[in-house]
Parts: sequence; structure tokens; C-alpha cells
Amino acid sequence: MGDTTPGLVCAHHHLYSTLARGMPAPVGLPTDFLQILERVWWRLDVALDLETIRCSAMLGALEALESGTTAIVDHHESPNAIEGSLDVVAAACAEVGVRVRCCYGVTDRHGPDGARRGLEENERFLAAGGRGMVGVHAAFTCTDATLEAAADLAARRGVGVHVHVAEGVVDRDAGARLDRLASPEWLLAHGVHLDRVLPGTLAHNPRSNMHNGVGYARPRRWPGRVVLGSDGIGADMLDEMRVGYVRAREDDLAATPAEAWSWVEAGWELVPEARDDRVRWSYDRVDDPWCAVFTPGVRALDVWVGGEQVLAGGRPTRVDAGEVRARAAQAAGRLFARM
Ligand SMILES: [Zn+2]
Repeated sequence: MGDTTPGLVCAHHHLYSTLARGMPAPVGLPTDFLQILERVWWRLDVALDLETIRCSAMLGALEALESGTTAIVDHHESPNAIEGSLDVVAAACAEVGVRVRCCYGVTDRHGPDGARRGLEENERFLAAGGRGMVGVHAAFTCTDATLEAAADLAARRGVGVHVHVAEGVVDRDAGARLDRLASPEWLLAHGVHLDRVLPGTLAHNPRSNMHNGVGYARPRRWPGRVVLGSDGIGADMLDEMRVGYVRAREDDLAATPAEAWSWVEAGWELVPEARDDRVRWSYDRVDDPWCAVFTPGVRALDVWVGGEQVLAGGRPTRVDAGEVRARAAQAAGRLFARM
């Protein structure tokens, strides 16, 4: 093979969480997945405003590009800055030169009005020509009426629903509640405790699942398409593939690097344009799975998106990397102070 591949796809990301590294420690050590949500992520997302979302998304997009990831399927939530938030995420990615599919994660955690505003943000963004899906946080934080409204909106807009599914045991009813709503266009994140096969693509997030101690998703049992996501922990898909491979191997010695690479390849079915993007790597056997999984630290050197070079010699061409990082650090300071 040559030393270029198509652009990689991060099939489940949370660009709003890019600033989370170094955030204030939770009050009281979380002992299960729900407490991790309550004490970490749901403290962070309520503190977001449009400016911190912008800085967070810019840094996340930059880090994606530096990792040869040219397309991000994002899942966004910012309960105190809902209206216009998807435009901010989309614009930040466009500024860096990375493709993004946006959605707003609808939830009833903040009452029916919060759910309604989340649905409206999805609808507004898609109706204005934005590329994306309809987002739902997870079945366990939504009423049946909200789940139905999201599924209905997605069907009307001709897109799928991007939703966390049975990530922890707290959401173990997701299969039953989504069974008659899901369609093949849906993107189902995690599926660790899913008790049945639903129509749709499974987004496997091995590093996040291990980090949250939710259990192993066993993606090899999924009969449909499996893609790879980071769940907000960067967008280095080669690294995610390595983690996914060793986790699969721990579960079953018959697991192969080719299977882990197939999850990366399946990302091109979700975002077909990324197949036409080009990445030149610091290593020339990236698409030989047996080599890629045992070669750490592979970086993108040059990246072309839609024919335009957006990374040259490891540096972004459209933005100043130092400036993006400095603004992100300042925004993180403001965000942590609000928390
Ligand atoms: Zn997620």
C-alpha cells in the first residue's frame, strides 16, 4: 500500500467535553455510572455557554485533524445554552476544516421545557440545512413521549437518531423502550447492556467503557454495522482501534486486528465523504491492521479534506494551533470557575 489512507471517522464524540481534562474533581468519588454522569458530566454540561462550546469544539476538531480524523459524528448537550449551539459546533469544525455531523442530545432531565427546546434545536439546525441527526441523551432520561417525538422528527427529516443505548445498567430497559422506534438509520452508542438487537449501527467506545467501568460491549456479537467512537476522549481513531483490539483480545483470543480495523472502515459508510479525504501518516503501514495495532504514536502529517490541504507537516493550515490551545485553556479556566 501507499502511505496515505482516507480520512478517519470518529463515529461517536462529544466535542463539548474537550475542555474537561483537568476539571475540578467530583465531590465524593463516583461509585457507579449514574454517579459519574451526575457528579462529572452533568456538572460540566450545565456550565457551558456558547463561547466555551466554541473553544471546546475548536480544540477537539484540531486534535482530530492532528490524528488524521477528518469527520466527527458529534453528540452535543448544553442545557443552559441550547439555542444555536449546533451552529457553534458546526462553525468551529468548519473553521478548522473537519467534517462534522451534529445533533443535540434531547433529555427530560431538565423538565419538559428542556426536552422541547432540545428537539427544537435539532429541528432548527436540520431545517436550515445543517448536516446531522436527531440526538437523544438516553432512554432512561427521557419520557416515552419525548422518545417518540425524537423518532418522529428524525423520520420527518430523513435522518436517524443518535442515542446512548444501555451504556450502564441504569439504562438496561433501553432495548424494550426503543424496540418499536429504532430504524436502520439510527446510531446506537455503547450497547453494553442491551438485551436485544435493534435496527441501526452500533458505535463502540472501548476506552470510555473501560474508563467508566460499565462492562464490555462485545461488539463482535453485533450482527449489524459496528463503528468506532471515542465518546469524547479525543478523536485518535488509530489509538481507539488499538484499545478496542486489546479489549476484544482480552475477551476472546480469536479476536483479530482486522476486526478492529473493520470498525474504522465502517465509519466511511456513516460519512462517505471522508473516504475521499486523504491522510499522509508518519508511518507507512497504517492500513495493515497487524502493523497498525502494534505501532504506537502514529501521527497525521498531511491531511486533505474535500481537496483542500488542511494539515501540512503536522500543522493546521486554516487556524493557528497555538492560538486555539491558548483560547481553550482560557475558556477551561472560566468553565471550571463556574462549576
Ligand atoms: Zn457518549
